[in-house]
Amino acid sequence: MIPLAEAQQRILEAVAPLEPKAVPLSAARGLVLADNVIASEMVPPFANTAMDGYAVRAADTAGASEPAPATLRVVGELAAGAGPTTAVGSGEAIRIMTGAPMPAGADAVVMVEHTKSEGATVAIFEAATRGDHVRFAGGDLEVGQRVFDAGTVLTPAHLGVLASLDVAAVRCHPRPRVAVCSTGDELVASGALAPGQIRDSNRPMLLAVLEEAGCEPVDFGIARDDEQVLTATITRAVDECDALVTSGAVSMGDYDFVKVVLERLAAERAGSTYSWMQIAIKPAKPLAFAAIGGVPAFGLPGNPVSSRVSFELLARPALRRLAGRSDVLAEPVIARAVSALPRRADGRLHFDRVLVRYENGGYVCERAGVQASNVLSGMAAATGLAILEDGPGIQAGESVPVLLL
Ligand code: AMP
Ligand code: MG
Repeated sequence: MIPLAEAQQRILEAVAPLEPKAVPLSAARGLVLADNVIASEMVPPFANTAMDGYAVRAADTAGASEPAPATLRVVGELAAGAGPTTAVGSGEAIRIMTGAPMPAGADAVVMVEHTKSEGATVAIFEAATRGDHVRFAGGDLEVGQRVFDAGTVLTPAHLGVLASLDVAAVRCHPRPRVAVCSTGDELVASGALAPGQIRDSNRPMLLAVLEEAGCEPVDFGIARDDEQVLTATITRAVDECDALVTSGAVSMGDYDFVKVVLERLAAERAGSTYSWMQIAIKPAKPLAFAAIGGVPAFGLPGNPVSSRVSFELLARPALRRLAGRSDVLAEPVIARAVSALPRRADGRLHFDRVLVRYENGGYVCERAGVQASNVLSGMAAATGLAILEDGPGIQAGESVPVLLL
C-alpha cells in the first residue's frame, strides 16, 4: 500500500492544464482565466451620483442646517440614463437620481432626505463637502489597470466586472469533457432485474458529481466485463474526451479488465503512464490510473461508496488541474465529533461518512448511516468525510479534520 499523498502526487504529475481557448462570458462561469485581464475602459465611465438628491456646489451649502437652511434655485432634473444637461451655477441645484451623470459645475450631492423641495427652490439642511456622494469616473477601475490575474477562477461577480468592461469573451482553460463509464456484467440501467443483476448506481452519481465539479460529463454507458468491449469503449473515450472515469474492474477479480486495458493502451501510446495502486485508505483502496497520450483515465473501484470517495480524493484534484486550477487538493475543516468515531488500526487512513453542522460558532459532525463501502445510502446521508488516522479512532468531544462534500 502507498500513502494517499503519494497516489495524489503520482496522478497530479501526469496531468497538465487543458490548452486555453476563447470562451464567451455566458459559458465562462467557474473556468480559470489563462491571461491577465487589463481594463480597456473606465468603470464607472463618467462621474455620477450615488444618491437621490440635489447636485450642488458644496460652497453654496456652507453652514447650512435645519434651522438655517441654504436655499438654492432648482435649474433642472437628471434621471439615470440622461445625458448631462445644464451646468449648476452659483446658488443653483439640479434634482438628480442615483446613477445620473454629475452636471458640470456641481461638485457634491446632498441626499434628498436632507432637503425640502419648495417649488422652484430647494432648502438644504446640511452642509456638503466637495465629492459627497459622487462616484468618480474610473473610481472603480482605471484604463490600463490589471483587473484580474491569470489563474483567477471566474465567479458570477467576475463575469459582471468583465461585462462592465465590455469584454465579450475571455481566454480560459476549457471545461474538461469527462467520459463516464460503468463496468460489470451484473449491471442494468433500469427495468426488471434478472437473477444476479443489480442496477447501475455509479454512473448517474459520477455524471452528477462531475457536473457539480464544473466539468462537462459525457455518458459512455455500461461496458461488459469483456476485454474487447472495454478496449473499444476506453479508446473512444480517451480519443473524444479530456478525461475518463470508469468504475469497477480494478481489483483482484478474474474479470477486472479495466486494469488490463488501461495498462495495454498506455503501453501502446507514446507519452503515456500507467499505475495500479493499492492506496492506504478505506474505503477505495485500489485505483487504476493511466494518462493515455496525456488524457487521464481513472479506474475507480466499483463499490459505490468507494467510487464516490475515490473520485473525491484522487480524480477531483486532477480534474481541477486539468481545468487550470492551482488549488487542487481540498482542505479539511476541523469539526468536533458529537459521538465517538471508533475504528480499528489497519495501516490505512479512514474516511468516515459524516453529517456536518455549524453549531455555536464551530463545526460538529456525527456518523451518517452505515459505514460499508457498498452502502450508498450512508454516503447519501453524509455531508462530509471525517479523516481518521490509523488507530482506535476518536472519542466524543474530540476534534477531527473533515472534508466537506
Ligand atoms: P468491482 O470493483 O467491479 O469488483 O465491483 C465491486 C462491487 O461493486 C461489486 O459488488 C459490484 O457489483 C459493485 N458495482 C460495480 N459497479 C457498480 C455500479 N456501477 N453500480 C452499483 N454497483 C456496482
Ligand atoms: Mg466488476
